[in-house]
Amino acid sequence: ATPTAVMVATGKGASLGVLIKGGNALEKAHKVNTVVFDKTGTLTVGKPEVVSAILFSRISMEEFCDTAIAVEGNSEHPIAKAVVKYAKNRSPNHKTQTTNGGPVTDFEVIPGAGVGCKVGRRTVLVGNKKLMRSFNVSVGPEVETYFSDNEKLARTCVLVAIDGKVAGAVAVTDPVKPEAARVVSFLRSMSIRSIMVTGDNWSTATAIAKEVGIENVFAETDPFGKADRIKDLQAKGMVVAMVGDGINDSPALVAADVGMAIGAGTDVAIEAADIVLIKSNLEDVITAIDLSKNTISRIH
Ligand code: ADP
Ligand code: MG
Repeated sequence: ATPTAVMVATGKGASLGVLIKGGNALEKAHKVNTVVFDKTGTLTVGKPEVVSAILFSRISMEEFCDTAIAVEGNSEHPIAKAVVKYAKNRSPNHKTQTTNGGPVTDFEVIPGAGVGCKVGRRTVLVGNKKLMRSFNVSVGPEVETYFSDNEKLARTCVLVAIDGKVAGAVAVTDPVKPEAARVVSFLRSMSIRSIMVTGDNWSTATAIAKEVGIENVFAETDPFGKADRIKDLQAKGMVVAMVGDGINDSPALVAADVGMAIGAGTDVAIEAADIVLIKSNLEDVITAIDLSKNTISRIH
């Protein structure tokens, strides 16, 4: 496209809440035939809520909650925020991080799996089964049952382990965005295939994908795995747009032919993307593709 056409489209985009960072994205977006969506915060609202909790060891609900607050209070992850909110309600007299069972030290984030730290002298892990596996924490049949019951309902379960033993779990729900299914079906009518990639587990991911009408899912994928899936699609000749909101999406946003960040997402994702969907509305994936189509057709 000519510099003038790019300028016009960029201005039009800005007025529609679609921030296009350069001519390159605009040149490519009309060729996109595959859109890869992140799940949490992209297809879903990204404001998860804890809907149930269960204890698997002889621990009081209050101690469980205080431990969860101490650990998740250090995490920016939306699930962590949901856990803290829930736990504070359940333990109204919860003490501060530094007084509850000792100070939090050695805090660590394990991408796509959860977090870990020391609370006083105890070692605490909060995250998915993958996290438990990698720290050799065994997951018993009653935990498995809790997981499968909740995952069928598109909920994500999070485990809390203290000193190598599962103490309890919570189930988190994060509803899909109201426009998600409509956008997937409209893309299909444009002969554009939609795919989901997520760090979340297969059963929750599959349940969410079904709700929005996506048939192709890659679950339990870490940040670089997400980028690898994009590269695989490109190797098969696909022109790929990636839509994501998290730090964990940034390698994929960079790898994609067109990276689109959700406006409400993290700064790192917004940095990594070519296009920012300011309104955080998935309809604007189509707006961006249309802007590109119009720009290109005008010069031919
Ligand atoms: P997504 O790709 O869906 O945005 P992430 O890669 O951020 O997901 O996380 C994948 C999974 O790792 C989550 O579904 C959750 O089970 C676990 N997880 C990550 N961070 C945390 C945390 N701070 N607390 C609990 N669980 C976490
Ligand atoms: Mg996300």
